[in-house]
Amino acid sequence: MATVSFWGGVGITGSSKVLIEDQGWRVLLDMGLDRPQTDLYHHPVSPRPGQELHDRLKVGDAPWIPHLFRKDAVAGTGLAGNSDGKTAVFITHSHVDHIGLTGWIDPDIPIYAAPETARVRHALTVVGEAAKKDPSFELIFAEQVMLEGAPPHIIPTAEAQPVEFGPFQITRYLVDHDVPGASGYIVETASGRVAYTGDIRLHGRHPEWVKRFAQAAYGSEVLVIEGTTLGNKTRDTEHPATEEQVDKTFTDIVEHTRGLMLITLRPRNIERIESFMRIAEKFGRQILWSKEFATFLEAYGLKVWRMDYSPAQLKKIQAHPERYIIQMWPRDIPWVMDLPVGKESVFIQADGDPKLTSPAGRSLQHWLQRYHIPLRTLGTRGHGSPEAIHKIVEWIRPKIVYPLHTHAPELLLPEPPTIRIVPEYGRRYPIG
Ligand SMILES: [Zn+2]
Repeated sequence: MATVSFWGGVGITGSSKVLIEDQGWRVLLDMGLDRPQTDLYHHPVSPRPGQELHDRLKVGDAPWIPHLFRKDAVAGTGLAGNSDGKTAVFITHSHVDHIGLTGWIDPDIPIYAAPETARVRHALTVVGEAAKKDPSFELIFAEQVMLEGAPPHIIPTAEAQPVEFGPFQITRYLVDHDVPGASGYIVETASGRVAYTGDIRLHGRHPEWVKRFAQAAYGSEVLVIEGTTLGNKTRDTEHPATEEQVDKTFTDIVEHTRGLMLITLRPRNIERIESFMRIAEKFGRQILWSKEFATFLEAYGLKVWRMDYSPAQLKKIQAHPERYIIQMWPRDIPWVMDLPVGKESVFIQADGDPKLTSPAGRSLQHWLQRYHIPLRTLGTRGHGSPEAIHKIVEWIRPKIVYPLHTHAPELLLPEPPTIRIVPEYGRRYPIG
């Protein structure tokens, strides 16, 4: 009989890993970097460079799954490495808590994902390579750790086209999250279907994709759904703004700002970035990107303008502040001393770094006060509200639902006849 087990995301947000097994065959859905289950590794205490996987496995901080990892990476742990030809990995999206351990997978094991996910992962490799060559190049992506191990070879899969693997048939469907290519999977097993949402929301740009996934998954034996917001009741989680509203607010600010605009965004929310670039262009502004951000976006395939803070460029901006929007990292903030800023300019915090509550965020606010720059915040979350999560369960009406990727799985309360089971780490649950 086929089984499902959970090797990450159990009682925590992130590090998702869903394993489906039958007759020695394995399909692993997601391979997120582990949040420390043991509490042994907390910054600045981290696994030793180059042997991170070994150091995590040794203390129970990485999934104990045989024939998944490269043999050299698990040497000395007692875990069987190298492919036995019966394991395949499928990735829902390119956030580190879903893809972060792929660098350790044995290269003979196929890793499938959306083409966009492969492109984002490639772009991160390019960022990592650039940082090796340029010492001033800061790896400011909070998710830089995903560059652990060797760059994985990801096989792009077409949407809604089943992949056969051993006794399984695995089909990818696009869903909506704040990164391109975000997908859910449906795995046909001999004992029934397992649907896995990955990270999901209904307030993004493509709620219809989520509906289509739910239709395809309707009546599944098992549903594994993320529940990030379940235990986190705030206005933002319960009534998130839509990406459309975010675009509208941004448009409004661009339309009414006469001076220079400064902005901070999340690199992987590429659809928002593309949308903001279009809006800026419409109002005669160019977004100028830091070299780290530009390297990433260019490697993904976008054409962008770079901010290099050269005297010639600063002169241009001084002459026409109304023609530019500068993307800033926390590192860049002191440049406001040399930029034409003041009451007519604006700093937009659009889900980027620094978070306003962090020490760097407080420092940012002092800089803005000192130079009389108004601060605007806008943005929305990548995760569905508790109501949206319940709605998706209702649409799919599985026999059993396992809430994952949440610290409050017990707050998922499905309508009968669906039964909710709070999963335990590493325990195998029969399907059907
Ligand atoms: Zn996640």
